[in-house]
Amino acid sequence: MSIVIQGVTKFFGEQKALDNVFFEVKTGEIVGFLGPNGAGKSTMMKIITGFIPASSGQVYVNGLEVGVDNLEVKKQIGYLPENNPLYPEMYVREYLGFVASIYKTGLPKKKQIDNIIELTGLAPEQKKKIGSLSKGYRQRVGLAQALILNPGVLILDEATAGLDPNQIVDIRNLIKEVGKEKTVMLSTHIMQEVEAICDRVIIIDKGVIVADEEKSKIYSLIKRPKQVIRVEFDKDTKESLLADIGNVSKVSLINNNLWLIEAEGDEDIRPAIFNFAVRNTLTVLSLQKQESNLEDVFRNLTNA
Ligand code: ADP
Ligand code: MG
Repeated sequence: MSIVIQGVTKFFGEQKALDNVFFEVKTGEIVGFLGPNGAGKSTMMKIITGFIPASSGQVYVNGLEVGVDNLEVKKQIGYLPENNPLYPEMYVREYLGFVASIYKTGLPKKKQIDNIIELTGLAPEQKKKIGSLSKGYRQRVGLAQALILNPGVLILDEATAGLDPNQIVDIRNLIKEVGKEKTVMLSTHIMQEVEAICDRVIIIDKGVIVADEEKSKIYSLIKRPKQVIRVEFDKDTKESLLADIGNVSKVSLINNNLWLIEAEGDEDIRPAIFNFAVRNTLTVLSLQKQESNLEDVFRNLTNA
């Protein structure tokens, strides 16, 4: 179950929402599709799921061309659209039965619905109207409808948006659990979501893919010094002296005696800073290495 995007461009009138996008999601991967608001994430997902056509380019889901084999493609994709549109007047079971019936799978419906209700933790709320459920449970209903046909591919557009922290953890765990057996693409503008769930990250900005990397390698894309150290001394010292420490590339005074020291190279600069302090009869009050995080990468690549 793979997704292949080949040169997809999408115009809305004059506006280009996607610009010659290429990427692949391989079988079993969980890929985070990250980008600021308006980057083109939802548009890409609507094109993958066959809900809107691309202006040009091709999309293949498990070898089937979207737009050509649309009904077959829709059977193989579970889609949770942004804002999770539901029917508030429908009961949970009734709604899931309705969704299952649309594509006429021929599977035993009751058992299928029971399984999904169990899997998504909807059992306690299954007899209620959708409109009376909490946002967290509504999101479970959205995931349940995406899973009802047991699709190989899941497309989840901002699945945790608007949830409280506990609900976010629950939904992320659920995605991780069901994602073990599926190919998953999830959009988000939250970096921690990618860190928590994904194997790979694709970053989009203004309709253009700006990064496509394994999660562990994404940090290497960042254009920033290798080491950033915050150090506080007990008294005044000179910037030019600090700048002379080996491998130091930049020194800035944050306030009073608190400095930000940037250094290149792989050798840890911290011992040299300690030695500097000793030589200059300074006491180190605090010393911290600042780690790069995904948020830095994101800002660096998208100017967000
Ligand atoms: P994201 O999901 O990353 O926030 P979208 O894919 O929703 O971004 O939007 C990408 C761009 O395309 C935005 O500038 C948005 O205004 C525009 N856009 C999206 N859908 C439509 C539409 N149906 N008609 C006109 N413009 C649209
Ligand atoms: Mg969106």
